[in-house]
Amino acid sequence: TDTDTADEAVRATCDDATICKRYATSKGYWKDPYIQYFVRSVGERKAPEINRGYYARVQGVDHLLDAFIKKAECDCQVINLGAGLDTTFWRLKDKNLMPRKFFEVDFPTVVARKIHNIKTKPPLSKPLIETHSTDSLLLDAHSLDSDRYCIIGADLRDISSLDEKLKKFQLNPELPTLLLSECVLVYMTPSQSSNVVHWAAETFHTAMFINYEQVNMSDRFGQVMIENLQRRQCTLAGVEACQSLDSQKERFLKTGWQHADALDMITVYSMLPQEDMARIESLEFLDERELLQQLLQHYSICWATKDRLNLARTSGTG
Ligand code: SAM
Repeated sequence: TDTDTADEAVRATCDDATICKRYATSKGYWKDPYIQYFVRSVGERKAPEINRGYYARVQGVDHLLDAFIKKAECDCQVINLGAGLDTTFWRLKDKNLMPRKFFEVDFPTVVARKIHNIKTKPPLSKPLIETHSTDSLLLDAHSLDSDRYCIIGADLRDISSLDEKLKKFQLNPELPTLLLSECVLVYMTPSQSSNVVHWAAETFHTAMFINYEQVNMSDRFGQVMIENLQRRQCTLAGVEACQSLDSQKERFLKTGWQHADALDMITVYSMLPQEDMARIESLEFLDERELLQQLLQHYSICWATKDRLNLARTSGTG
Protein backbone atom coordinates (compact mmCIF):
# COMPACT_ATOMS: atom_id res chain seq x y z
CA THR A 1 0.00 0.00 0.00
CA ASP A 2 0.96 3.69 -0.17
CA THR A 3 1.40 3.79 3.59
CA ASP A 4 3.82 0.89 3.48
CA THR A 5 5.89 2.60 0.78
CA ALA A 6 5.92 5.84 2.72
CA ASP A 7 6.91 4.11 5.98
CA GLU A 8 9.63 2.17 4.18
CA ALA A 9 11.08 5.44 2.82
CA VAL A 10 11.04 6.88 6.35
CA ARG A 11 12.78 3.80 7.76
CA ALA A 12 15.48 4.14 5.11
CA THR A 13 16.39 7.58 6.50
CA CYS A 14 18.17 5.91 9.42
CA ASP A 15 20.92 4.95 6.98
CA ASP A 16 21.27 8.56 5.75
CA ALA A 17 22.03 9.83 9.22
CA THR A 18 24.51 7.04 9.95
CA ILE A 19 26.23 7.30 6.57
CA CYS A 20 26.73 11.05 7.04
CA LYS A 21 27.99 10.61 10.59
CA ARG A 22 30.35 7.85 9.45
CA TYR A 23 31.75 10.09 6.72
CA ALA A 24 32.21 13.09 9.04
CA THR A 25 33.96 10.96 11.67
CA SER A 26 36.25 9.51 8.99
CA LYS A 27 37.29 13.10 8.22
CA GLY A 28 38.08 13.73 11.87
CA TYR A 29 35.17 16.03 12.80
CA TRP A 30 34.54 14.01 15.95
CA LYS A 31 35.28 10.50 17.19
CA ASP A 32 32.83 7.62 17.14
CA PRO A 33 34.55 4.24 17.37
CA TYR A 34 31.22 2.37 17.17
CA ILE A 35 29.60 3.76 14.05
CA GLN A 36 31.78 1.56 11.80
CA TYR A 37 29.83 -1.46 13.06
CA PHE A 38 26.59 -0.06 11.66
CA VAL A 39 27.82 1.07 8.24
CA ARG A 40 30.63 -0.97 6.88
CA SER A 41 32.36 1.44 4.54
CA VAL A 42 32.91 5.15 4.39
CA GLY A 43 30.58 6.12 1.59
CA GLU A 44 30.96 8.77 -1.04
CA ARG A 45 32.15 12.24 -0.23
CA LYS A 46 29.80 14.66 1.53
CA ALA A 47 30.06 18.41 1.10
CA PRO A 48 31.92 20.30 3.87
CA GLU A 49 28.79 22.24 4.88
CA ILE A 50 27.00 18.94 5.52
CA ASN A 51 29.85 17.68 7.68
CA ARG A 52 30.00 20.93 9.63
CA GLY A 53 26.23 20.79 10.06
CA TYR A 54 26.46 17.26 11.48
CA TYR A 55 29.23 18.42 13.80
CA ALA A 56 27.06 21.21 15.20
CA ARG A 57 24.11 18.80 15.53
CA VAL A 58 26.09 16.17 17.41
CA GLN A 59 27.80 18.74 19.67
CA GLY A 60 24.52 20.52 20.40
CA VAL A 61 22.52 17.42 21.20
CA ASP A 62 25.32 15.75 23.20
CA HIS A 63 25.85 18.95 25.18
CA LEU A 64 22.21 19.07 26.34
CA LEU A 65 22.03 15.32 26.92
CA ASP A 66 25.24 15.15 28.97
CA ALA A 67 24.26 18.20 31.03
CA PHE A 68 20.95 16.56 31.94
CA ILE A 69 22.59 13.27 32.95
CA LYS A 70 25.25 15.06 35.03
CA LYS A 71 22.62 17.17 36.74
CA ALA A 72 20.69 14.02 37.63
CA GLU A 73 23.95 12.33 38.68
CA CYS A 74 23.03 9.46 36.35
CA ASP A 75 19.94 8.74 38.43
CA CYS A 76 17.72 9.15 35.40
CA GLN A 77 16.60 7.45 32.22
CA VAL A 78 16.97 8.33 28.57
CA ILE A 79 14.50 7.48 25.80
CA ASN A 80 15.72 7.94 22.26
CA LEU A 81 12.64 8.02 20.00
CA GLY A 82 13.32 6.98 16.40
CA ALA A 83 16.87 6.15 17.44
CA GLY A 84 17.80 4.40 14.20
CA LEU A 85 21.39 3.18 14.37
CA ASP A 86 22.46 5.84 16.87
CA THR A 87 25.53 5.00 19.02
CA THR A 88 24.87 7.21 22.06
CA PHE A 89 24.54 4.25 24.46
CA TRP A 90 28.19 3.28 23.86
CA ARG A 91 29.42 6.87 24.04
CA LEU A 92 27.76 7.34 27.45
CA LYS A 93 29.17 4.05 28.71
CA ASP A 94 32.70 5.12 27.72
CA LYS A 95 32.22 8.55 29.32
CA ASN A 96 30.94 7.03 32.55
CA LEU A 97 27.66 8.82 32.04
CA MET A 98 25.31 5.86 31.91
CA PRO A 99 21.77 6.65 32.99
CA ARG A 100 19.97 4.02 35.04
CA LYS A 101 18.43 2.78 31.84
CA PHE A 102 18.77 3.80 28.22
CA PHE A 103 15.75 3.08 25.99
CA GLU A 104 15.51 3.23 22.24
CA VAL A 105 12.41 2.97 20.08
CA ASP A 106 12.17 2.57 16.33
CA PHE A 107 10.16 0.60 13.78
CA PRO A 108 10.53 -3.18 14.33
CA THR A 109 12.49 -3.71 11.09
CA VAL A 110 15.04 -1.02 12.00
CA VAL A 111 15.33 -2.46 15.51
CA ALA A 112 15.86 -5.95 14.08
CA ARG A 113 18.81 -4.68 12.02
CA LYS A 114 20.32 -2.92 15.00
CA ILE A 115 19.98 -5.97 17.24
CA HIS A 116 21.54 -8.17 14.57
CA ASN A 117 24.58 -5.86 14.48
CA ILE A 118 24.86 -5.85 18.26
CA LYS A 119 24.63 -9.66 18.41
CA THR A 120 27.32 -10.20 15.82
CA LYS A 121 29.83 -7.45 16.77
CA PRO A 122 31.64 -8.03 20.09
CA PRO A 123 32.68 -4.35 20.51
CA LEU A 124 28.94 -3.57 20.58
CA SER A 125 27.77 -6.47 22.72
CA LYS A 126 30.60 -6.38 25.29
CA PRO A 127 29.59 -3.10 27.00
CA LEU A 128 26.05 -4.38 27.14
CA ILE A 129 27.04 -7.60 28.87
CA GLU A 130 29.36 -5.69 31.21
CA THR A 131 26.50 -3.53 32.43
CA HIS A 132 24.20 -6.50 32.96
CA SER A 133 24.03 -8.39 36.26
CA THR A 134 22.39 -11.71 35.48
CA ASP A 135 22.73 -14.18 32.65
CA SER A 136 19.12 -13.72 31.59
CA LEU A 137 19.47 -11.13 28.88
CA LEU A 138 16.49 -10.81 26.57
CA LEU A 139 17.70 -10.70 23.01
CA ASP A 140 15.28 -11.74 20.31
CA ALA A 141 14.81 -10.49 16.78
CA HIS A 142 12.63 -7.51 17.71
CA SER A 143 13.64 -6.49 21.18
CA LEU A 144 16.62 -6.35 23.44
CA ASP A 145 16.43 -5.89 27.17
CA SER A 146 19.35 -5.73 29.56
CA ASP A 147 19.71 -3.96 32.92
CA ARG A 148 20.89 -0.72 31.34
CA TYR A 149 19.96 -0.85 27.68
CA CYS A 150 16.65 -1.63 26.04
CA ILE A 151 15.65 -1.48 22.39
CA ILE A 152 11.98 -1.68 21.51
CA GLY A 153 10.26 -2.07 18.15
CA ALA A 154 7.19 0.17 18.08
CA ASP A 155 5.39 2.72 15.96
CA LEU A 156 5.54 6.15 17.63
CA ARG A 157 2.18 7.00 16.10
CA ASP A 158 0.54 4.38 18.35
CA ILE A 159 0.96 5.96 21.78
CA SER A 160 -0.89 3.37 23.87
CA SER A 161 1.20 0.52 22.54
CA LEU A 162 4.38 2.60 22.96
CA ASP A 163 3.48 3.32 26.59
CA GLU A 164 2.63 -0.31 27.24
CA LYS A 165 5.89 -1.61 25.75
CA LEU A 166 8.07 0.87 27.63
CA LYS A 167 6.39 -0.04 30.92
CA LYS A 168 6.79 -3.74 30.20
CA PHE A 169 10.54 -3.06 30.06
CA GLN A 170 10.61 -1.23 33.41
CA LEU A 171 10.31 2.35 32.33
CA ASN A 172 10.03 4.28 35.59
CA PRO A 173 7.78 7.37 35.38
CA GLU A 174 9.19 8.60 38.70
CA LEU A 175 12.73 9.05 37.40
CA PRO A 176 13.95 12.26 35.76
CA THR A 177 13.71 11.44 32.07
CA LEU A 178 15.39 12.77 28.98
CA LEU A 179 13.56 12.21 25.71
CA LEU A 180 15.38 12.68 22.45
CA SER A 181 14.15 12.77 18.87
CA GLU A 182 16.51 13.60 16.04
CA CYS A 183 14.90 14.03 12.63
CA VAL A 184 11.92 11.89 13.64
CA LEU A 185 8.89 14.02 14.52
CA VAL A 186 9.04 15.70 11.10
CA TYR A 187 7.95 12.42 9.49
CA MET A 188 4.70 12.41 11.47
CA THR A 189 1.70 14.69 11.07
CA PRO A 190 1.58 17.64 13.50
CA SER A 191 -1.15 15.92 15.51
CA GLN A 192 0.81 12.66 15.74
CA SER A 193 3.96 14.44 16.95
CA SER A 194 1.92 16.53 19.39
CA ASN A 195 0.53 13.29 20.80
CA VAL A 196 4.08 12.05 21.41
CA VAL A 197 5.23 15.18 23.26
CA HIS A 198 1.93 15.36 25.15
CA TRP A 199 2.30 11.73 26.26
CA ALA A 200 5.81 12.54 27.50
CA ALA A 201 4.62 15.58 29.46
CA GLU A 202 1.83 13.55 31.04
CA THR A 203 3.97 10.57 31.90
CA PHE A 204 6.94 12.22 33.67
CA HIS A 205 6.95 14.89 36.39
CA THR A 206 10.59 15.79 35.70
CA ALA A 207 11.70 15.67 32.11
CA MET A 208 13.51 17.30 29.24
CA PHE A 209 12.69 16.73 25.60
CA ILE A 210 15.32 17.48 22.94
CA ASN A 211 14.07 17.68 19.39
CA TYR A 212 16.33 18.25 16.40
CA GLU A 213 14.80 18.73 12.97
CA GLN A 214 14.13 20.99 9.99
CA VAL A 215 12.89 24.55 10.49
CA ASN A 216 12.10 27.64 8.37
CA MET A 217 10.82 25.37 5.63
CA SER A 218 8.52 27.81 3.85
CA ASP A 219 11.22 29.58 1.83
CA ARG A 220 12.70 28.51 -1.51
CA PHE A 221 15.57 26.55 0.07
CA GLY A 222 13.10 24.71 2.30
CA GLN A 223 10.98 23.80 -0.72
CA VAL A 224 14.03 22.29 -2.43
CA MET A 225 14.77 20.21 0.68
CA ILE A 226 11.19 18.91 0.64
CA GLU A 227 11.32 18.13 -3.09
CA ASN A 228 14.60 16.23 -2.69
CA LEU A 229 13.00 13.97 -0.09
CA GLN A 230 9.83 13.54 -2.12
CA ARG A 231 11.91 12.28 -5.00
CA ARG A 232 12.70 9.35 -2.71
CA GLN A 233 8.98 8.86 -1.81
CA CYS A 234 9.72 10.42 1.55
CA THR A 235 7.18 12.93 2.86
CA LEU A 236 7.83 15.40 5.62
CA ALA A 237 4.31 15.02 6.99
CA GLY A 238 5.11 17.29 9.91
CA VAL A 239 6.51 20.19 7.97
CA GLU A 240 3.79 22.54 9.24
CA ALA A 241 5.23 22.25 12.72
CA CYS A 242 8.61 23.26 11.25
CA GLN A 243 7.73 26.69 9.95
CA SER A 244 9.63 28.64 12.57
CA LEU A 245 11.44 28.43 15.89
CA ASP A 246 8.20 29.64 17.48
CA SER A 247 6.18 26.80 15.99
CA GLN A 248 8.82 24.38 17.31
CA LYS A 249 8.39 25.78 20.83
CA GLU A 250 4.60 25.98 20.55
CA ARG A 251 4.30 22.23 20.07
CA PHE A 252 5.72 21.79 23.57
CA LEU A 253 4.11 24.74 25.33
CA LYS A 254 0.68 23.61 24.12
CA THR A 255 1.07 20.08 25.45
CA GLY A 256 2.03 20.53 29.09
CA TRP A 257 5.71 21.51 29.02
CA GLN A 258 6.72 24.41 31.28
CA HIS A 259 9.59 25.90 29.27
CA ALA A 260 10.76 25.61 25.70
CA ASP A 261 13.72 27.09 23.88
CA ALA A 262 14.84 26.74 20.29
CA LEU A 263 17.87 27.77 18.27
CA ASP A 264 18.56 27.41 14.61
CA MET A 265 21.75 25.54 13.82
CA ILE A 266 23.66 28.48 12.39
CA THR A 267 23.30 30.05 15.84
CA VAL A 268 24.39 26.82 17.52
CA TYR A 269 27.33 26.71 15.12
CA SER A 270 28.34 30.26 16.02
CA MET A 271 28.26 29.29 19.71
CA LEU A 272 30.81 26.50 19.31
CA PRO A 273 34.00 27.12 21.28
CA GLN A 274 36.52 29.10 19.20
CA GLU A 275 39.12 26.35 19.15
CA ASP A 276 36.64 23.66 18.08
CA MET A 277 35.44 25.86 15.27
CA ALA A 278 39.00 26.64 14.17
CA ARG A 279 39.83 22.94 14.23
CA ILE A 280 36.86 21.75 12.16
CA GLU A 281 37.15 24.63 9.71
CA SER A 282 40.72 23.58 9.01
CA LEU A 283 39.65 20.02 8.11
CA GLU A 284 38.09 20.88 4.77
CA PHE A 285 38.05 23.98 2.68
CA LEU A 286 34.64 25.59 2.28
CA ASP A 287 34.50 27.92 -0.65
CA GLU A 288 31.14 29.55 -0.14
CA ARG A 289 30.17 30.28 3.41
CA GLU A 290 26.73 31.16 2.11
CA LEU A 291 26.02 27.44 1.64
CA LEU A 292 26.70 26.71 5.29
CA GLN A 293 24.53 29.64 6.36
CA GLN A 294 21.60 28.53 4.23
CA LEU A 295 21.76 24.89 5.20
CA LEU A 296 22.10 25.50 8.92
CA GLN A 297 19.31 28.07 8.99
CA HIS A 298 17.03 25.18 8.04
CA TYR A 299 17.68 22.99 11.06
CA SER A 300 17.04 23.62 14.73
CA ILE A 301 17.38 22.23 18.20
CA CYS A 302 14.40 22.73 20.45
CA TRP A 303 14.43 21.68 24.09
CA ALA A 304 11.57 21.70 26.54
CA THR A 305 11.52 21.03 30.24
CA LYS A 306 9.14 20.36 33.08
CA ASP A 307 10.11 20.03 36.69
CA ARG A 308 6.99 19.65 38.82
CA LEU A 309 8.97 18.65 41.89
CA ASN A 310 11.46 21.48 41.46
CA LEU A 311 14.38 19.07 41.56
CA ALA A 312 16.65 21.36 39.58
CA ARG A 313 16.27 24.08 42.17
CA THR A 314 16.53 21.92 45.29
CA SER A 315 19.49 19.84 44.13
CA GLY A 316 21.80 22.77 44.74
CA THR A 317 24.24 22.64 41.87
CA GLY A 318 24.08 25.20 39.05
N1 SAM B 1 17.60 9.59 15.35
C1 SAM B 1 18.51 8.84 14.50
C2 SAM B 1 19.74 9.68 14.16
O1 SAM B 1 19.70 10.90 14.34
O2 SAM B 1 20.76 9.10 13.77
C3 SAM B 1 17.82 8.38 13.23
C4 SAM B 1 17.22 9.46 12.38
S1 SAM B 1 16.37 8.89 10.93
C5 SAM B 1 16.43 10.34 9.95
C6 SAM B 1 14.67 8.80 11.45
C7 SAM B 1 14.35 7.56 12.25
O3 SAM B 1 13.04 7.69 12.81
C8 SAM B 1 14.34 6.29 11.42
O4 SAM B 1 15.14 5.32 12.04
C9 SAM B 1 12.87 5.90 11.38
O5 SAM B 1 12.66 4.51 11.26
C10 SAM B 1 12.36 6.46 12.71
N2 SAM B 1 10.92 6.71 12.71
C11 SAM B 1 10.25 7.61 11.96
N3 SAM B 1 8.92 7.52 12.18
C12 SAM B 1 8.75 6.56 13.12
C13 SAM B 1 7.61 6.00 13.77
N4 SAM B 1 6.38 6.41 13.47
N5 SAM B 1 7.79 5.02 14.67
C14 SAM B 1 9.05 4.59 14.97
N6 SAM B 1 10.17 5.08 14.39
C15 SAM B 1 10.02 6.05 13.47
